[in-house]
Amino acid sequence: MVTESIPRVMLETADAEFNPLLSAEARFDEAAARLGLDEGMQKVLRSPAREIIVHIPVSLDDGRLEVFTGYRVQHSIARGPAKGGIRYAPDVSLDEVRALASWMTWKCAVVNIPFGGGKGGVICDPNLLSPGELERITRRYTAELFEFIGPEIDVPAPDMNTNEQTMAWIMDTYSMHARHTQTAVVTGKPVNLGGSRGRSEATGRGCMLVADQALGRFGLERAKTRVVIQGFGNVGGMSARLMARAGYKIIAIVEYDGAVYNAGGLDITALAAHRKETGSVVDFAGGENIDREEAMFLETDVLLPAAKENVITSHNAGRLRCKILCEGANGPTTHFADPILESKGIFVIPDILANAGGVTVSYFEWVQDRQGYFWNEQLVNERLGEIMVESFRDVTAYAEKHGVHNRTAAYMLALDRVAFAIKLRGIYA
Ligand code: NAD
Repeated sequence: MVTESIPRVMLETADAEFNPLLSAEARFDEAAARLGLDEGMQKVLRSPAREIIVHIPVSLDDGRLEVFTGYRVQHSIARGPAKGGIRYAPDVSLDEVRALASWMTWKCAVVNIPFGGGKGGVICDPNLLSPGELERITRRYTAELFEFIGPEIDVPAPDMNTNEQTMAWIMDTYSMHARHTQTAVVTGKPVNLGGSRGRSEATGRGCMLVADQALGRFGLERAKTRVVIQGFGNVGGMSARLMARAGYKIIAIVEYDGAVYNAGGLDITALAAHRKETGSVVDFAGGENIDREEAMFLETDVLLPAAKENVITSHNAGRLRCKILCEGANGPTTHFADPILESKGIFVIPDILANAGGVTVSYFEWVQDRQGYFWNEQLVNERLGEIMVESFRDVTAYAEKHGVHNRTAAYMLALDRVAFAIKLRGIYA
C-alpha cells in the first residue's frame, strides 16, 4: 500500500534497493554486459533450470491437518549437481529462493567446485512448531522431492532455521526411499552420520583466509589489524574466535541488542562465555557498551558483516571507515551501495567469495561420503586454505585485468565459467 506521506517513486526505489532478486539481477546484468555475453546465453544463465513447488500435508500435534508450501529451485546444473540450503521461515517466497539459487551457482563457480546452484524453502514458522511437527514437515518435503534430489542431482544443506538434525532427517528419509543408506544426498550432517570435520567453522575460517590475503595490499599484519564484526553467531562468532586466536585485534562485536568495544582488542573466549551466561554481548566486563548503529562506522581496518542482508546501503555506505569490507553474510551490501564503496576506495571481498568456505567444506563432505573415507580436520583445513587463497587470487587478478572492482570481477569470473561449461556441453536437442 502506498501511503500519502511517502511518494511512490521513493517506495519503488527502496524496494529496488532491498529486493534480493533485483539485487542479484543488477549484479548479473553488469557482469554479463562487461563480459559481452550474447543475449541467448544471458537468457539461459538468467533462467532457473527447474522450479519445484510442493504442498505438504502434515498432521499437527493437536490432531489438525495443515498444508505447507515448499519450494526447490535448481538454478543451474551445468557444472555439476545443484547445491544449496533449505530454509524454514514464514516469509519464504519463490522469488527469494530463485535469487538465492542463482547466488549459489555463482558462489560455487567462484571457488571452482563442481556444483551448480540450488535453494529450497518451506513457508512455516519454526518458532510455532514442535520438533515432531518440524520432523514431519521435513520428511514429507523430502519424500515429495525424492526424484529431484540426490548425490548426482541436487544436494541440499542447512540454511536459515534448519540444522544438522534437519539434514539427518532428510538423509534418513531419502535413504528409506532409496532402500540403502545414502549419506551424500545432503551436507551439513552431524559428523557421526557422514558430516565433515571442520564444517561448523568453515565459513568463519574462509572469511579469515581471504582477509589474510587482503592485508598484504595495505601493508598490514594481523597483530596491527583492527576488526569490527557484526553478528556473533556461526559465521561472526567463528570468524571472531579464529581471527583473535591468529592475532587480529577484534575491537568491536555488534549484535542485534547492542555492541561491545575495546580499542585494545576483545577477549573473544571470555565474551563468548559472557554471552552464554547472560544471553547478550552487552555489559561485558572486558569492554564498553557502544551504540550498535554507530559501531558499524568505527574507524577500523576490517569490517566483517556476518549477521544479515541489506545492512550496508546507499544511506549509510558513505559513513563507513574501514579499509577492507569482508562480507561474511549473504548480501550484506545493496547494489546501490556498491558505487559509494568504490568511490571511497574500500577493498571489498564480496560475499560469493568471502563466505564460500562453508560450501567448499560441504563439497569436501560430499566427496568424503562418496569415497566412504573421512579426512582429519587438518587435511580439511589445508584443502580449504588452498581453495580460498586460489579463489581470492583468481578474483583479484580478474579485477585487475578487466579494470573492475572485486564484486563485478567475482560475478564475471563465475558467469564466464558457467557459460564456458554450457558452451562445451552444447544445448541438447
Ligand atoms: P546465525 O543465526 O548463527 O548468526 C547470526 C547472528 O547475527 C546472530 O547472533 C544474531 O543475533 C545476529 N544478528 C541478527 N540481526 C542482527 C543485527 N541487525 N545486527 C547485529 N547482529 C544481528 O547465522 P549465521 O549462520 O552466522 O549466518 C549469518 C549470515 O551468514 C547469513 O547472511 C547467512 O546467510 C550467511 N552465511 C552463513 C553460512 C554458514 O555456514 N552458516 C555460510 C554462508 C553464508
